[in-house]
Amino acid sequence: MSGLISLLNASLEDLDFILENSFKKRLVIHSTLKVIKEVRVDVNRYVIPWSGGLDSTVVLDDYAATSSKLYKVIAVSVSGHPNINKHQMIAQNKAQKNYMVYAKRRGYHIEHRKIKILGKGEWDGRGDVVAQSILWLSALTPTLRDGDKILFPYIQNDCFWHYKDKFEAIFNAICSMKDVKVTFEYPLEWCTKYDVLSKGRFIPKKCWFSCDRTKNSKPCGKCDKCNEIKKAYERLKAKEVLSERSG
Ligand SMILES: [Zn+2]
Repeated sequence: MSGLISLLNASLEDLDFILENSFKKRLVIHSTLKVIKEVRVDVNRYVIPWSGGLDSTVVLDDYAATSSKLYKVIAVSVSGHPNINKHQMIAQNKAQKNYMVYAKRRGYHIEHRKIKILGKGEWDGRGDVVAQSILWLSALTPTLRDGDKILFPYIQNDCFWHYKDKFEAIFNAICSMKDVKVTFEYPLEWCTKYDVLSKGRFIPKKCWFSCDRTKNSKPCGKCDKCNEIKKAYERLKAKEVLSERSG
């Protein structure tokens, strides 16, 4: 009220002064908000669904290389699930522990979050990949916050690309319920298994595990994943021999 009375009593000159100052204040607030917004854009986090397999470990390694104490990379893993091969889970958890030791030695800053999924979920989608992405959806949702960038490590010949749009739409709908907005990035979209192995050739082999038919926590050597990796290794070795000869 007193503000209104003093405004009524103010001369035109006074009013000019008040308006000019409030305009200046608004400018200050506007530029402060702009700075806050810019800082927020800078601190958007990279979140990686990390199975412990070759593809996700290569993506994690790539982004962790530019991490810092302030800008940690968030890796989310499923540490327990009723429908995942128990031996595979044990082997992947062990590989992840090995990788974390390796990453610490290299000075990387990774925040590793483990999610345990309970109950008896269905695992019968069209191929394992449908079930896998739904699994990631439930594992990632509690971790996500506004502005996060999710790095999905799907490669060129994964089935995921057939339903990417639907998957993103479902993911976005769930995020909007949480009042957060995230973006999706696919750093291995155009990579073959050979390209991925080539990128990750310096990561020790004990730091990832990629067989889903294992019965003793060792690669079975027969499944599609084992065969794909075997072929990629052969190609990589042949290339190295060739470059050694020409060098
Ligand atoms: Zn296998």
